[in-house]
Amino acid sequence: MTHATPPIELTGTAEHFAGHSVALGNDFIEALHAVCPTDVSIETTADVSRDWWPMSMHWALAGEVPRRAGAVVRPASTAQVSDVARLCNTAKVPLTVAGGRSGVCGASVPVFGGVLLDITAMQGIVSVDDVSGVVHVLPGTFGPDLENELRSHHALTVGHFPQSFDIATVGGWVACRGAGQYSTRYGTIEDMVAGLEVVLADGRVITTGGSPAAAMGPDLTQLFLGSEGTMGIITQVSLRAHPVPPEGRRTAYAFATFEDGLEACRQIIRRGATPAVLRLYDAAESARGQGGDGTQNMLLVLDEGDPAIIDAVMTVVDDVACAFAASNLGSSLVDGWMHHRNDTSALQALTRKGFVVDTLEIAAPWSKLGDIFNAVRAAMLAVPHARAATCHLSHSYLDGACLYFTFAATPPPHEVEATYVALWDAGQRAVLAHGGNLSHHHGIGINRGRFMAEALGPAHDVLVALKHTLDPNGILNPTKLALPSPFGPSPWPTA
Ligand SMILES: Cc1cc2nc3c(=O)[nH]c(=O)nc-3n(C[C@H](O)[C@H](O)[C@H](O)COP(=O)(O)OP(=O)(O)OC[C@H]3O[C@@H](n4cnc5c(N)ncnc54)[C@H](O)[C@@H]3O)c2cc1C
Repeated sequence: MTHATPPIELTGTAEHFAGHSVALGNDFIEALHAVCPTDVSIETTADVSRDWWPMSMHWALAGEVPRRAGAVVRPASTAQVSDVARLCNTAKVPLTVAGGRSGVCGASVPVFGGVLLDITAMQGIVSVDDVSGVVHVLPGTFGPDLENELRSHHALTVGHFPQSFDIATVGGWVACRGAGQYSTRYGTIEDMVAGLEVVLADGRVITTGGSPAAAMGPDLTQLFLGSEGTMGIITQVSLRAHPVPPEGRRTAYAFATFEDGLEACRQIIRRGATPAVLRLYDAAESARGQGGDGTQNMLLVLDEGDPAIIDAVMTVVDDVACAFAASNLGSSLVDGWMHHRNDTSALQALTRKGFVVDTLEIAAPWSKLGDIFNAVRAAMLAVPHARAATCHLSHSYLDGACLYFTFAATPPPHEVEATYVALWDAGQRAVLAHGGNLSHHHGIGINRGRFMAEALGPAHDVLVALKHTLDPNGILNPTKLALPSPFGPSPWPTA
């Protein structure tokens, strides 16, 4: 059985958030015990009540978690999940689902205590339809376990490779609407999900989807994609899979400006070429991680699949790059990136030194990306104690792309939280003001809740209405997605 990976050492079990926490009575805990394995020890409940949100990594070093759950349950079947939901709903106890706890926005943090449902006891492939290329998998399955079995026993791949591949679960991919590094070829998770089994707040079990396409009203599967545990508990996922690619090819180019590189990516995609990986690094990131000289903007390209299709894709890529007089750097940069692309050790090292480090990823139409690139870096660098704000393009679509900013600051210890909030306010508001969205794939969690109403406008009311219908007692992951909570408002930002 694969387990969650702790983000950083936890040096205590205190709670950072003040305010209301729902206490669990002895009878309720006995009832949980009767349903499935239940743990109420302070060490365990503290450890499972945090994720990779950089702010809570700082708190962990100070001996705090954001908020401790009162109990952690580990159901092993849909029936047990259903029983837990029914108990929580009847007792009006908050119920927060956690998978790999690799979220970077605090989405799996149980903001008002209550029950944390660790879904990782439900692991493994249930069945595979080899003819159609559809795999039915349990939600607590981690990326490598899914891919290794699919590749070795079925010659299939789902093609979903987020940087957190080793530490995230299938249910978490779906609940956060994730994107893998090969998304330009295989799509993001919403393209891969063929159907779901979901336990609703009152314990009812429903299934959605199940066919390649449908005209049966709105697609209910999409309602749970990106719902971050607020609308239901995902207990099984059907994913579309592809034949394992027989061939792959890699190449890289250096562009004189990031804007040239952006326009080249747009032209490549608009001409219909969809290389699995198309990543453009600005000059600062190219120098930091891709061997650039401080002026070059590196474009990394990788494709895989049928050789005839790769030939066509790489021809288009090269045509476009040549038109911008980009120098061809061969494949070694991509080989290097493949080697270090999932290494996160710098994050922990810098956090231990007191740096504020985080990433902000957004999507926007091609026509807005240049302005966003400049505005976000300028806004963040204007924040006191800011040290760096850099960018790369990581996922491309017919109509736009994802820009992924990495930022760092070195505030004095007592200003870490205020600096973190100021950097997010500056960066995220600059994105929204210039036509970008709130998040491309990291989601909302605790951290981005304060921007939701601004980003969605009146459409947020529709989300609120859906929440009331599906979860009238508001027990599922309260306050996330800025949904109204009967337990109180979001405790973040604390000041
Ligand atoms: C170093 C690093 C790199 C990352 N790179 C990427 C990347 O490339 N692409 C990307 O998309 N993300 C990335 N992430 C973010 C994170 O890994 C993803 O959001 C991931 O999908 C979360 O999965 P998880 O199993 O860890 O979910 P958790 O963190 O445990 O939970 C996340 C949210 O999903 C809900 N949830 C989890 N399981 C279920 C379920 N079964 N039913 C209902 N709700 C559920 C939780 O309640 C919570 O709201 C990265 C994170 C890190 C730390």
